[in-house]
Formats: sequence, structure tokens, C-alpha cells
Amino acid sequence: MLSFFDVLGLVYGRQNEKGKRNGDADDGTEPGGQQGPPTLQSRRPAGPSLPRASQADIDSNPMRYVDMRADEIRYARHSEHEYGGETFNVAVVQQRGRPETRRVVITSNKDFRNAPGNVPLGPRESYVNPDAPRQTYREKDTGSRRVVPRPEDDTSHHAEQRTQRVIGDDEEIVAQAPTRGCCPECQAALGDNINTIPEHRRSPEAYNRHRVQERAVQTTSDGE
Ligand SMILES: [Zn+2]
Repeated sequence: MLSFFDVLGLVYGRQNEKGKRNGDADDGTEPGGQQGPPTLQSRRPAGPSLPRASQADIDSNPMRYVDMRADEIRYARHSEHEYGGETFNVAVVQQRGRPETRRVVITSNKDFRNAPGNVPLGPRESYVNPDAPRQTYREKDTGSRRVVPRPEDDTSHHAEQRTQRVIGDDEEIVAQAPTRGCCPECQAALGDNINTIPEHRRSPEAYNRHRVQERAVQTTSDGE
């Protein structure tokens, strides 16, 4: 499953370059379904073999924390799920200018109300979905609830934009990492906060380059 995701990640990037609509597909469809089987070269170790993000890094190196934690979550999810447009965002936030108040907020572009079972949370982490109620509205006449389809060009449910909405007015984002490259719509929505994302996650193109490099390193070490 992991290697299949890798292939799709590259396809996703190529689609972007062609100018097709970018965005975290939230309808469960898989881009690039015409691709062949994954190659051996694209295999990566499963989640448990990755280094675990150090809780101390929340204070001492928040950029490294979110980067490693995003990888942990990504591998935890994709070891048992095929790629389905799912993105998580891991953010270290604090009350303005007060590092001693740091906490970790995790959001996703899906409508999970709670963190999935295979994403156990650290002691300072919380999973937040600010928009779950937005999915339904009560009909005026009957009072019954109905699911409202999300407009196609609406990206406000993307994990990074949800992070922006869940932090308090007195809080700031210190570092954040989406589990794949930040899309153009989120880049625009984040404004200066784009600088709180590790460089290789700031765009789909940067992230795809990073993944190719990762696989090259992995293939080399496999051969030794
Ligand atoms: Zn986005």
C-alpha cells in the first residue's frame, strides 16, 4: 500500500503541472487510477521502523517535531489504507510570545470527529475538527438534517486551513507540517504562516521532489 501511494504522489504532482485542478480530493477517489503496479524501488519501511518524534522537540525544535510527526501519521495511515486524498496537518501552537504554552493541534481534511485509532495522540496533542457540523443543515420545513455537498472549488476543509481556524485569537502557529505538499489554495490562505511549514512541504512540487530523494536514499540503503 505504501509503495502504491508513492506512485500516486508523483502522478498527483504531474497533474498539477498540467494545470488540472489542485486540491485535497475529499470524495475518496484516487487520482491516477490508470497507473500500473508499484515498483520494488518505491518501497519504504513501514511506520514502526521510522524514528519516533521526540516530545522534547516540541520545545527545542518544533519544525523537526512537526516534520517527523507528519511522517509518522502518514505511514501509520497508509500502511492500512490506500491513498484516498487524506491529509493531516500537525501544528505546534502557542500563546503569542509564550513558548511555555506550546501545544500540538492535529487536523485533517476529512470529517473525522476524532483522531483515527491508528493515530494515537501524544500527551500534548489534540485532534480537532472545527467543521464537522458544517456538513449538515436542518431543513426549514421538515426540520430533518441533510448532508450538504461541498462546492467543488471549496478548499476550506483542507487540513492547513482548518488549523488556522481552530487556534485561539491569542495563539500563533510556531511550526506546522501537512502530510503532503501544501496546495496553492492553502498557500494563499496561510499568508505569512506558510513560513511555519518545512520548505519541502510548502508546495506539491517541493514535496514530490523530496519524496523522490527519500526513495533514492532508501533504494541505496536497501542495496547495502
Ligand atoms: Zn490545501
